[in-house]
Amino acid sequence: MKYISTRGTAPVLDFEDTLLAGLAADGGLYVPESWPRLSRETLTSFKYKPYAEVAYEVLNPFIGGTPNNDRFREILEAAYQAFEVPEVAPVIPLGGQHYLLELFHGPTLAFKDVAMQLLARLMDEALARRGRRATIIGATSGDTGGAAIEAFRGRENIDIFIFFPEGRVSDVQRKQMTTPTDENVHALAIDGTFDDCQALVKDMFNDADFRHETGLAGVNSINWARVMAQTVYYFTASAQLGVPDKEIAFSVPTGNFGDIFAGYVAKQMGLPIAQLMIATNINDILARVLKTGIYEIGDVVASSSPSMDIQVSSNFERLLFEATGRNADEVCRLMGELAEKRKFSLSPNVLEVMRGSFAAERVDEGETAKIIKDMFEADGMLLDPHTAVGYGAALRSDVPTSTPIVTLATAHPAKFPASVEKACHRSAEEIIATPERVQVMMKQDEAYETYPNELARVQDFVRQKNSF
Ligand SMILES: *Cc1c(COP(=O)(O)O)cnc(C)c1O
Repeated sequence: MKYISTRGTAPVLDFEDTLLAGLAADGGLYVPESWPRLSRETLTSFKYKPYAEVAYEVLNPFIGGTPNNDRFREILEAAYQAFEVPEVAPVIPLGGQHYLLELFHGPTLAFKDVAMQLLARLMDEALARRGRRATIIGATSGDTGGAAIEAFRGRENIDIFIFFPEGRVSDVQRKQMTTPTDENVHALAIDGTFDDCQALVKDMFNDADFRHETGLAGVNSINWARVMAQTVYYFTASAQLGVPDKEIAFSVPTGNFGDIFAGYVAKQMGLPIAQLMIATNINDILARVLKTGIYEIGDVVASSSPSMDIQVSSNFERLLFEATGRNADEVCRLMGELAEKRKFSLSPNVLEVMRGSFAAERVDEGETAKIIKDMFEADGMLLDPHTAVGYGAALRSDVPTSTPIVTLATAHPAKFPASVEKACHRSAEEIIATPERVQVMMKQDEAYETYPNELARVQDFVRQKNSF
């Protein structure tokens, strides 16, 4: 498989180079040259296969033979052994047409482990084969950082630098980033928002001298390999719920549009998805664009679901590319307009294409808290605030009642105890079963520095601490 940039001028790459490149050299995002299709028989067979086996069949067409088939199977096995339940991503009925897809059984209790555990192994392997090292930089709104550090800590050929917005991540999230003592791990708090952290990362990538000097690689959800890894659970969940004989809908708590774009990829590969519901919190740029056709950057507002406190939604560019019929010139024009005016308008055609696959709902803070409380009081089930946003949007879906709707449970409630406590008016200790490894971590010492939102200072930090 070859990969092309959404902006049309970066070199065409194979899988491993795409994996190591992250962002494309023209500022665009890599996508496969074409979408592989899976047959009905293959979809049916997934019902009885273990997760790693389904992953192999879904992902193999994207890999192109490096690593070779046997090695790729081994890597997948190892990646998903890091999960606490054998199913990796279990499906739980919620009553009626509603289901929950639990994606939080990995080491850092959020869905980002699913992709990161695979990505880290693939990258380390690719670097070892080339006799190279790399410096990973990533911005996080909370969960990516912990998942990346957990997946990359102690790996031979990689230093990892994670930038998080000071005071805007939960205590558990911060500790997951600041307690590891491995020499290759560096977490830095930035005096700013997630979008500021993301802009720093983009600027560092766009600085060609710096990029070469430090051997930069990226693990944000702009990295194709992450999106790719996330397509797998759409297939495993669907196989449990009667696909391919019926259609299915997904509600996805969305920030950077990576997870839900993975659902769109699954649909392009032949999975019969009736609707992909974009569930946003009060940072609702994606819900607004689908309703009005205008993509307009607002101010980021801190919410109870901080991993979705995002206004610049990077992976939306991949959908723009698809919805414009893969028109890189048009994507360049729109992204140029966004940079200049902080907004752009979609043409009616493009909007219609998007509405053919997606719906969108905004779930505000009061409703999120009410959902957490109601679910807990009804049957003792605790949702984290991100999942609650997803479920709130799912409840407003207009798909027929015969269509199962699966809400992606993207984090464990123990990751956001303060919000759960506030919503349920009960102490977190009393109601949340915090996994033991988190209890142990919370008692460990933290080490991190806080930097101003200044590119030059942050670059100096990376220059000093990396061993490329
Ligand atoms: C990252 C994250 C999201 C948003 O995922 P995107 O791929 O950025 O849309 C939702 N929920 C949780 C818990 C997350 O960590």
